[in-house]
Amino acid sequence: MTAIKVGIIGAGSAAFSLRLVSDLCKTKGLSGSLVSLMDIDKDRLNAVHMLAMKFAEEFGADLRFETTTNVEDAIKDSSFVVNTALVGGHSYFEQVRKISEKYGYYRGIDSQEFNMVSDYYTISNFNQLKFMHDVAKAIERISPKAWLLQAANPVFELTNLITRTVPINMVGICHGHHGVDHIIEKLGLDAEKVEWQVAGVNHGIWLTKFMYEGKDAYPLIDELLEKEVENFKPTNPFDDQLSPVAKDMYEFYGKMPIGDTVRNGSWKYHYNLETKKKWFGEPWGGVDSELGWKWYQDRQAEIAIAMQKVAKYFQENKNAKLLSKDSLNEIISQTKNDVKEELTKEIYNLLDPQRKSGEQHILLANALLNNEKVDLVLNLPNNGTIPGIPDDVAVEIPVYADKDGIHRYKIDPPLPERIKKMYLYPRIMRMEWALEAFLTGDKKVLEEFLIRDPRTKSYDQVVKVLEEILALPGNEEMRKHYSK
Ligand code: NAD
Repeated sequence: MTAIKVGIIGAGSAAFSLRLVSDLCKTKGLSGSLVSLMDIDKDRLNAVHMLAMKFAEEFGADLRFETTTNVEDAIKDSSFVVNTALVGGHSYFEQVRKISEKYGYYRGIDSQEFNMVSDYYTISNFNQLKFMHDVAKAIERISPKAWLLQAANPVFELTNLITRTVPINMVGICHGHHGVDHIIEKLGLDAEKVEWQVAGVNHGIWLTKFMYEGKDAYPLIDELLEKEVENFKPTNPFDDQLSPVAKDMYEFYGKMPIGDTVRNGSWKYHYNLETKKKWFGEPWGGVDSELGWKWYQDRQAEIAIAMQKVAKYFQENKNAKLLSKDSLNEIISQTKNDVKEELTKEIYNLLDPQRKSGEQHILLANALLNNEKVDLVLNLPNNGTIPGIPDDVAVEIPVYADKDGIHRYKIDPPLPERIKKMYLYPRIMRMEWALEAFLTGDKKVLEEFLIRDPRTKSYDQVVKVLEEILALPGNEEMRKHYSK
C-alpha cells in the first residue's frame, strides 16, 4: 500500500474531480492518500470538497482531503499533479468566438482544420498555455519527482510544450479512446475478446487494429456503419462515433476515426451550420456547431448548479447518509429531467464499487507505485513509435504501465500513410505553429496562422481580429508577450 499526495488543479470541475476521487476510493493500494483540491473559485472548491468527503465516507475509504487556492500548496509533496484548470473559463472562449465571427471566422479563429473542438483553443489561448507551462515549472522547482498528468486542453500542444521545455515526468491524458467501447457495445461484442489499438495524436486517433476472437473484425464495423448512417439521428450532440462524418472519414483515410477525432475533420464537414447538420445529423449538427455547443454549455451550467445543491444539502445535514435516488432527485428537483437522470446515473455509477470511472489518472498512479500492470492510451513523445513522425512530437498511443514506468506497444498493423500524410502531418504543423508563437512571442506567427486560413480574405481582416482579441480585458499579459 502506498499513501501519497495527489494534487488536483482546477478541482472545481466537479464531475471530473469526483471521478478521480471515486477511483481513489476503489483503489486499495492508494489507501491513506491525501488529495489536495486546488481552485481559484472558493464556492466550487467547497462544493467539491464536501462531495469528495461524502464519497470517501460512503466507501469507508481511508482518504484525506485539503483545499487550497494556492497552486504551490497543491504541488508541494505531491507524487501526482492532475491539471484540469481552464483559465478564463468558457466565457473567454465565447468572447473570442464573438469577435472572430464579426470578422468572418465562423466558430472562431481557433477552430482550425483538424482542430474543431470548441474548447481546444491554440491561437488565442495564451493565458491557458502560460498557466500550464508555469505549473510544470513549479513542479520542477518544488516537487521534481512528481508526475504531471495533463488533462486540461489543448492536451496536444501542452504535452509537446512541456515535454520539450520542462524536465519533469509528464503525460497528457484524454478519454477519447472510449469511442472504441461505444463501437464494441453497438456491435454487441464481448469486450474481453476484442483486441484493439488506436494511434495518432490527441483528438486525432485512428483504430489501427480491431480483432474479435483473433480475427479481423473491421468487416463488422463496415456493416454497422452502413446501418447506422441510414436515417442517422443522433441522441445528443456528442453522438457522432457512427455518424455520416465518421463513415466519410473512414472511407477517405482507411481507418475509423475514434472519439473526438470525428469532430476534428477538415473544413468539408464544418463550413457552416447547414454543412455540419448534413454530416453530424439534425437537429444540432454536432457538438461544435452553435446549437450543439449551446446544448453542452446549458447542460454544464445545470450540472454545476445541481452539484452545488447536493453539496449544500450535505453541508446542512452533516450526518446525512448516502441518498436514495428518490431523495437525490428531490434535492435537484429544479434540474431539467434529462440532466437529472444523467447526473443521478453518473453519481450512482461512481458509487458502484465494481466500476471504475473510465479516467486513466488513478490507474496510472496505481500501476507505477504498486506495480498493478494496466493498459492505457497516453500522450507522450513519439520516440520512434510511429515511423515518420519526429521523436519529439507527442503521440497518443497504446501503452502499459507498471513499477518500471510506461512502456509502448508496437503499433501493428501500422498507421496508413494516408492518415500520416493527409491528417497527422498537417495537424502536427499547426501544433508547431502554436508553440512557435507562444515560445517566441512573435505576433507575425499568429498572423501567419490566419493568413493560411481559408476563411481569410485580406490581411486587414487578420490584423483587426487579432488586435481586438489582444485588447480583451484579461489579455494584458498576452498583449505584452506579442508586442516584442
Ligand atoms: P470548467 O471551467 O468547468 O472548470 C475548470 C476549473 O478551473 C474551474 O473550476 C475554474 O475555477 C478553474 N480555474 C480557472 N483558472 C484557474 C487557475 N488559475 N487555477 C486553478 N484553477 C483555475 O472547465 P471544464 O469544462 O471542466 O474543462 C476543464 C478543462 O478540461 C478544459 O481544458 C477542457 O477542454 C478539458 N477537458 C479535458 C478532457 C480530457 O479527457 N482530457 C475531457 C473534458 C474536458
